[in-house]
Amino acid sequence: MTREKEPAKGRTRGGNGNGEVLCSFCGRSALEANSMVAGPKAFICDRCIKTSYEILRKELSAIQQPERVAEQPFQPRLVSPKAIMDSLDKYVVGQEIAKKSLSVAVYNHYKRIESQEWMHDDDDEVVIEKSNILLIGPTGTGKTLLAQTLANMLEVPFSIVDATSLTEAGYVGDDVETILARLLHASDFNLERAERGIIYVDEIDKIARKSANVSITRDVSGEGVQQALLKILEGAVVGVPPKGGRKHPEQQLININTKNILFICGGAFEGLDRLIAKRVSKSSMGFGSKVKSKQTGYDPEILRYVTQDDLHEYGLIPEFIGRLPVISTLDLLDESALRNILVEPKNAIVKQYKKLFEMDGVELEFTDEALDKVVSIAIERGTGARALRSVLENVMIDIMFELPSMKNTHKCVITADTIENKGNPDYFSGERKEKKIA
Ligand code: ADP
Repeated sequence: MTREKEPAKGRTRGGNGNGEVLCSFCGRSALEANSMVAGPKAFICDRCIKTSYEILRKELSAIQQPERVAEQPFQPRLVSPKAIMDSLDKYVVGQEIAKKSLSVAVYNHYKRIESQEWMHDDDDEVVIEKSNILLIGPTGTGKTLLAQTLANMLEVPFSIVDATSLTEAGYVGDDVETILARLLHASDFNLERAERGIIYVDEIDKIARKSANVSITRDVSGEGVQQALLKILEGAVVGVPPKGGRKHPEQQLININTKNILFICGGAFEGLDRLIAKRVSKSSMGFGSKVKSKQTGYDPEILRYVTQDDLHEYGLIPEFIGRLPVISTLDLLDESALRNILVEPKNAIVKQYKKLFEMDGVELEFTDEALDKVVSIAIERGTGARALRSVLENVMIDIMFELPSMKNTHKCVITADTIENKGNPDYFSGERKEKKIA
């Protein structure tokens, strides 16, 4: 390749037949351009180089990255169900049944991926099917936390998507492909890692058809999204715009194979227990549990009897239910579970506040009554453990604002009055411990 400023006499490639050199892209002559680069069969002027460079830079900035990182082979760790359960126990309080079925499902999922590597194309070879998971349980009972903790533990990329934001292609909203674009981002554009990641689809119950009787009420948006999700849940090669958003014709797409991506779908499925109760109570007496939600009447015991037919009646289409073979239900979190959530998990909220205060050289304590108060306010809100953080944050903000300037306070005790009435905590003066930060 050579750089040409003057017309190259006697050369015809990209020329106009009069020996004049023309840009093969825009037709400008060498005299009109600042610079002209010659290839074996064509010329390109400086302006076209600049324009091409801009197009490429924009389109490829995301795509170049997988080439950089995809070289490292990626193999998720195959961890035993017991080890998975142990890890979940460190972060998730209660939910024993869900933890157990998730541990087995996730173990089988990654075993299935391993098995593909040594499988032959024999007709009689047993093919292990993909086991995506459906988690049923009210808000704030730990569905997202379970999925997130699994991904952290297995060190696989993880992304969360809200089913209500998804639409069928052509409608306003996110295309289903956006889910995959997010996972690609979460994997730092390492395609191989993304293809073994975990996607949590929240609020899956909200895309249920309003009625199972299609002929009467056809809820197009809900059913359409279920249809759109089907193919990626099952396993397909999907062209994904690297930056998310809608596909458009000139866009460079990254092909992601979803066959080894584990999908965990979660939803509250309000009213599903009533459907099941109606079906089952005909044959059994005294059915149902004593622990029910005051706000929603959620009955975890009844939900354990959920069948694919119940989910169909609720409004999920049979093909979609078929792609979620593992179904697990979550318990309501009672007072003692919520109390544990405040203090027990590895990164419990109370532990986090204590650490923040410690960094200022201040010891932080909560009285038992203060913690009980947090729990009782959270229960009234009816949003499970989700309310714990907001109840605490509401009182801790003011204290965290003042305390760094109270130079001779070395201890702070949060009481029930602090929680209930935003009263002052008990401050103790004395020399602070050495600060952990400057
Ligand atoms: P869901 O997805 O069921 O609505 P999340 O998993 O988002 O609920 O929970 C909201 C917050 O409540 C989480 O960040 C977590 O801190 C806490 N939480 C919920 N359930 C549990 C649990 N079983 N154990 C520990 N923390 C929990």
